[in-house]
Amino acid sequence: MLSKTQIKKYLKSPLKTITTPIKNTSIIMRVTLWYTVFITILIAILISISFSVAKNLSKNSIQQEIVQAVTNISNNPNKFEDFTDGMFFIVYDENNIPIQGRIPKDFSPLLPIHENELQQFTNHGKEYIFYDLQISTDKNKWIRGIVPKHHSSKEVSFFLILMLTISPILIIFIVYGGYRIIKRAFIPVSKISTTALQIKENNDFSKRIPTNDKEDELHKLANTFNQMLDTLESSYLHEKQFNIDVSHELRTPTTVILSESEYGIKYAENLEEAKESFKVINEQSHRMKKLINQIMELSKIESNNTIHMEEINLSELVQTRTKDYIQTAEKKNIRLNVQVENNIHINANQIMIERVIDNLISNAIKFTENKIDVKLYSENNKIKLSVSDNGIGISQENQNKIWNRFYQTDSSRNKNENTGVGLGLSLVQKIVELHNAKIILHSEENHGSLFEIEFSS
Ligand code: ADP
Repeated sequence: MLSKTQIKKYLKSPLKTITTPIKNTSIIMRVTLWYTVFITILIAILISISFSVAKNLSKNSIQQEIVQAVTNISNNPNKFEDFTDGMFFIVYDENNIPIQGRIPKDFSPLLPIHENELQQFTNHGKEYIFYDLQISTDKNKWIRGIVPKHHSSKEVSFFLILMLTISPILIIFIVYGGYRIIKRAFIPVSKISTTALQIKENNDFSKRIPTNDKEDELHKLANTFNQMLDTLESSYLHEKQFNIDVSHELRTPTTVILSESEYGIKYAENLEEAKESFKVINEQSHRMKKLINQIMELSKIESNNTIHMEEINLSELVQTRTKDYIQTAEKKNIRLNVQVENNIHINANQIMIERVIDNLISNAIKFTENKIDVKLYSENNKIKLSVSDNGIGISQENQNKIWNRFYQTDSSRNKNENTGVGLGLSLVQKIVELHNAKIILHSEENHGSLFEIEFSS
């Protein structure tokens, strides 16, 4: 005996062999197949229902016709015809003997008269409907009307043939039309896969899916895919540019370190000269360390789209951070004014906000003439933190560029004062973005700059 699981397995296996090839066929074929089967079954059901309805209607109408025709002859016996419209008529005398008329080939002439009753007779597979009625003007005679049953199905057969000829044409028309519509609708999908393949093979992010202005779901998908490719391309190009910039920035200190160390090895004759070379090497190493630290910090922040936030007392934070710069500012004869409204709290990442304050103040110290103002206040439900100076300012043209990575304006003052690497403001911008805040720059060349961050409270 087969076990339950064996029976299940046995029952499942033929099903599997059918579903596997279906699974492997394209969606277009599967949908087409599904609705072809569905429509064929539907049309077959409709045909059989209409056929049986038509058959019944036709039978009823032929019965009515024979009754009508026999009644007419009974009322007007002089209009008697033995065969008309596919119907046979016979006149019987009172002894049930046919005396006039025509009898169909397989019909028995001696069937007893049953007045006013529709009867059926079958012989050699042929079916007849017949009806008897007494002739109204001669009570000793009866008139019998006979009609072959196949006569009644002629219209039905015609209807059936018509349906059977039209249905396949209709099915072909529907299936082909549907197939073309689905195939056309799926064009964007094949374009998406071709484009994705081209991108994969050639690493070419400039490829886009050709689209038109259609608004259906698949065209929307293709457009979204294109937008995603825009983002991918720009971040790919961004990364590429970043790598080029990093290598470029690292090349200068590395070259200086190499040439200075080679010079020291070959030509330094005493400790003094060797110390000179070490000094240069040390400076460049510091620069490299700073550069690497900032790159790492920036990549860390850029890869974080969510950050840990907590409620911080921004007033206290600004006050403590600015304290660290008082001495440096004094040494350079810079007046550092700090105006902080008390008890301003925001939801933020404390370390990142410290980084922003440090960057803005150290830039201001580098580029100011003699004055820096740091302000924190709330206004119209916004919290504003600003750092301004009265230094060299930034030209209109450069105001958009300073946020780019490694960008440094090339004014001579910048070259003299700036020991930075051009990553500070990119970092500031990214942090501000992560806090859903915005940073605005107001600056005029030779008059100073104001960086203002606006947090929503
Ligand atoms: P860096 O490390 O060079 O300071 P940043 O990204 O912080 O890099 O700044 C980019 C450039 O923007 C600076 O090199 C400088 O030219 C300009 N800049 C930034 N802050 C100021 C400022 N307060 N005044 C004038 N120029 C500034």
